[in-house]
Amino acid sequence: MNACIVAIGTELLTPFRVDTNSLVITERLNSIGCSVTAKTVVGDDVEALGRLLAGAIGSVDVIVCTGGLGPTEDDVTREAVARALNLPLDVDQAIEERIRARFTARGLRMASINRRQALVPRGAEVLENPNGTAPGLWLEHGQTVLVLLPGPPREMTPMLEAVIRDRLSSRAARTALFRRVIKVTGRPESDVDERTQPIYARWRSQPVPVHTTILASLGQIELHLTAEASSRAEADRALDPAVAELHEALGLSVVSVDGRTIEAVVGDLLRAARRTIAIAESCTGGLLTSRLTDVPGSSSYVDRAAVCYSNQSKVQWLAVPEALIAAHGAVSEPVARAMAEGVRASARASVGVGVTGIAGPDGGTPDKPVGTVAIAVATETGSRTHTFRFLGGREHVKDQAATTALNMVRLMLLRG
Ligand code: AMP
Ligand code: MG
Repeated sequence: MNACIVAIGTELLTPFRVDTNSLVITERLNSIGCSVTAKTVVGDDVEALGRLLAGAIGSVDVIVCTGGLGPTEDDVTREAVARALNLPLDVDQAIEERIRARFTARGLRMASINRRQALVPRGAEVLENPNGTAPGLWLEHGQTVLVLLPGPPREMTPMLEAVIRDRLSSRAARTALFRRVIKVTGRPESDVDERTQPIYARWRSQPVPVHTTILASLGQIELHLTAEASSRAEADRALDPAVAELHEALGLSVVSVDGRTIEAVVGDLLRAARRTIAIAESCTGGLLTSRLTDVPGSSSYVDRAAVCYSNQSKVQWLAVPEALIAAHGAVSEPVARAMAEGVRASARASVGVGVTGIAGPDGGTPDKPVGTVAIAVATETGSRTHTFRFLGGREHVKDQAATTALNMVRLMLLRG
């Protein structure tokens, strides 16, 4: 079974609103083995939407539309569907009564424009909306099913769940798409690709083929492995060895194979070893600590953190010797190490981290250009320090510095 998704709303064509519904819809369709072959964003435009629907009907099994079911003049999905399929719009008294009752229950009078929401293309079935006035619609036309869902995500999602459960899953093939995510950090995308390509080629020709996609963002890479199978057990038989082989090829640069973020992995390692962490951040401005504390339960291992931007703060709070800063500069490995050791000592924590760098756009020099970041991790057995040159703007440098610091902590903990 295949599907296309149409996100309807003029606001979705501006830089201010993004269509997130189609991601949720894709995930739910994939879970019942229905693949998405195309998705489109279209404005609140009867003509454009009508043309799009007329073109899609008959070429896919399912068209899921979201948006444009509200009561106002610009909500035209019902009209466009009626025109594309040449169907009259009938007033559904039951819907009108339900909408009126929703208003009455809140002590309000129904505005006459809300009656538009009771218009139904002839032959369509009504999908209940427990969280709003706009009902959804289910319409079968030849081989194609048209599903119309409202735009607000909190209304759309429960209706989608119900449609998938009660109507679409029984039409879908008896297979589903199963996915595994391998998170990798500390290697460039080209290197990950080179090591993994020969492996994919073999898995693609298995009885249950495993398909792979590589998704790279600055500092983090994800390998998505998917298998279409009739049961989880069958998918596991195909995916488990593929994951294991990729894990082996990528070694310690694999952060997780179960979807956990690097901060969650670091947290689990700290908790398992009954260790605590203290952090001293300069150029990341608290981002590293913020990410560590995004993990529920992080209070059991995060002891404290200091954001020390000025030289004076590094001297006063972290006991970094003034002479060290004078000799090497604030962005240097000796200072990063002194920050890590200083915060670790004052917290009496097992692990100390120091991050100091030049996030830009100003402050770079020929030998320390923008993106230069020194990171140190100190433990009871010694410390490890490294200087990195990150690319990108301020936000990207901060982000990569935080990820890389987390990765250094992870590797220190794994290597014992
Ligand atoms: P509508 O059903 O078209 O009246 O949509 C109402 C509101 O839902 C819009 O103002 C958006 O904030 C939100 N919305 C509509 N479509 C989407 C979408 N595809 N993804 C996320 N939010 C949406
Ligand atoms: Mg709209």
